[in-house]
Amino acid sequence: KGVVHRICAGQVILDLPSAVKELVENSLDAGATSIEVSLKDYGAESFQVIDNGCGIPPHNFKVLALKHHTSKLSDFPDLQSLATFGFRGEALSSLCALGDLTVETRTKNEQIATHLTFDNSGLLIAERNTARQVGTTVTVKKLFSTLPVRSKEFHRNIRKEYGKLITLLNAYALISKGIRLVCTNSALKNAKSVVLKTQGSGSLKDNIITIFGMSTFTCLEPLKVCLSDSCTVEGFISKPGNGSGRNLGDRQYFFVNGRPVDMPKVGKLVNELYRGANSRQYPIAIMNFVIPPRAFDVNVTPDKRKIFLSDEGSILRFLREALEKIYSSNYA
Ligand code: ADP
Ligand code: MG
Repeated sequence: KGVVHRICAGQVILDLPSAVKELVENSLDAGATSIEVSLKDYGAESFQVIDNGCGIPPHNFKVLALKHHTSKLSDFPDLQSLATFGFRGEALSSLCALGDLTVETRTKNEQIATHLTFDNSGLLIAERNTARQVGTTVTVKKLFSTLPVRSKEFHRNIRKEYGKLITLLNAYALISKGIRLVCTNSALKNAKSVVLKTQGSGSLKDNIITIFGMSTFTCLEPLKVCLSDSCTVEGFISKPGNGSGRNLGDRQYFFVNGRPVDMPKVGKLVNELYRGANSRQYPIAIMNFVIPPRAFDVNVTPDKRKIFLSDEGSILRFLREALEKIYSSNYA
């Protein structure tokens, strides 16, 4: 069982960003308004997500990291209408299989918090009292240490994975309203160790200004288009011909209902239309697709970042039309 479990786990948790993403999503699902991501040595040694969400009740401690344990199905009878992305009970179980998992948690009904240690098969092996506010801290040490080949690759690529993680956390920081998001990296000294910090109190506009600066914001224009009777896209994209510089393809953020996702086809479309007359530049694009949960399937790729829209063809067609209008002057 052990080996198969480890290999499957490696398909849910692909890298540092997908590992942290699962923990941040859990914090969001728990209603947290403050989320801190704390990295030791870029995440290579450990990473920790600290939240002020609802906490985990004691009756869930034993089953928490067992495969397919989730509290999110019984709590929400209608799976289809679930706004949360995490409902498969695989993240904590996978993280156990790939590294050393500990959890500190407390609900509002408990006087004291509990520190939980799990083994690589997801069994709870130690439990003790500790002090903590209401909320949950999940710590993973030595990710991939149970898969030696992957572990080597992980340590070799750590800076790159770290970079991808920061981009992902920026995505959450951009889209989150009323959520404080902080990321620290122990490998960087003093003030530099805080690599991201937002109060998240504002609108998408305010968040863009906080994260990318006013000068970037003035190069953007708002986008709000109905793509079908049920799908709307809203956000900001580069104004026509307004240089967002070269190699800024990484400033493209796509969301479905406020959760970051990969949308390669949309990215390609935006680039193609924008670059019609700006061949050396990439547009900034920050786009949130508001879609009823029934109209897409987030459960197809193991890391849940690939979204399959049931009506993708027509959505892309309407998006193309809308972007063509904005960028048509470039073709003149
Ligand atoms: P899923 O999110 O798909 O339910 P996970 O393996 O990510 O599965 O988490 C398992 C369970 O652990 C969740 O259903 C939830 O009950 C609990 N949990 C995990 N992280 C947190 C957290 N930060 N706050 C509260 N509960 C959590
Ligand atoms: Mg989850």
